Amino acid sequence: KLSKRLTQILGKIPPGSRLADIGSDHALLPVAAVESGAAIQAIAGEVNLGPYEAAVKQVMESGMKDVISVRRGDGLDVLSAGEADVITIAGMGGGLITSILDRGLDKLAGVRRLVLQPNVGEDILRKWLYSHHWVLVEEFILEEDGKIYEVLVAEPAEATELTNERVYTERTIGDRVRLSTNWLLRMGPWLTQSPNSVFYDKWRSELEKMAHILQSLSRSDLTTAADKASEIQSDIEFIQEVLACLP
Ligand code: SAM
Repeated sequence: KLSKRLTQILGKIPPGSRLADIGSDHALLPVAAVESGAAIQAIAGEVNLGPYEAAVKQVMESGMKDVISVRRGDGLDVLSAGEADVITIAGMGGGLITSILDRGLDKLAGVRRLVLQPNVGEDILRKWLYSHHWVLVEEFILEEDGKIYEVLVAEPAEATELTNERVYTERTIGDRVRLSTNWLLRMGPWLTQSPNSVFYDKWRSELEKMAHILQSLSRSDLTTAADKASEIQSDIEFIQEVLACLP
């Protein structure tokens, strides 16, 4: 059975897509996508030998080797331009996903949708999408087995009515807290609009981590420690205000 996380990603692949799943590991997502009709054909890309072999085995066993091509290589290197219209990259850090997209820019021409699931560093990824004219059209946050995951769905600016300027327009919540574009990039423009309980759990846990950092900074002799501490302190206060104002 597909995990809740992969099921959420699968649900964002439009029916009949030509899918490329990068960092596919056991190729669970491409197999499920073809099975459900979300994909009519798929490419499973893997850089590491073990996961690549696991993907080959999974695809053979599923009887889908004619429609799912398993390829070994780094990031989008496994694709030819125009081969896929949806790309999924899941289960890695936002920094790694960003560098995969960045190194494969030429392969993104013709791609209609990116479905990305960073384990950490969502803000880095949102910033990359923003500055490369990919509009964040939806985002989700969910919890599974005690871990919290975010799923970001982006489309090329020319293919959607939405614009990043609109998505990330500063807005006031409650009647006094101003969410700047930078904070929207950090917390998520859609997640802050309709936060669920997982969103609150994530930010409460972020607040705890920040409090720990403050404690260790208070014991530090570094000359920059005080500046860093006051920056974190003001972030903590801001996040607390945001959480208090959201519905
Ligand atoms: N995408 C699957 C999922 O979400 O369940 C597997 C996630 S797994 C934690 C990350 C996979 O990405 C690993 O199998 C790893 O080998 C692969 N990977 C890491 N860097 C990669 C890269 N630059 N290109 C292709 N695959 C990569």
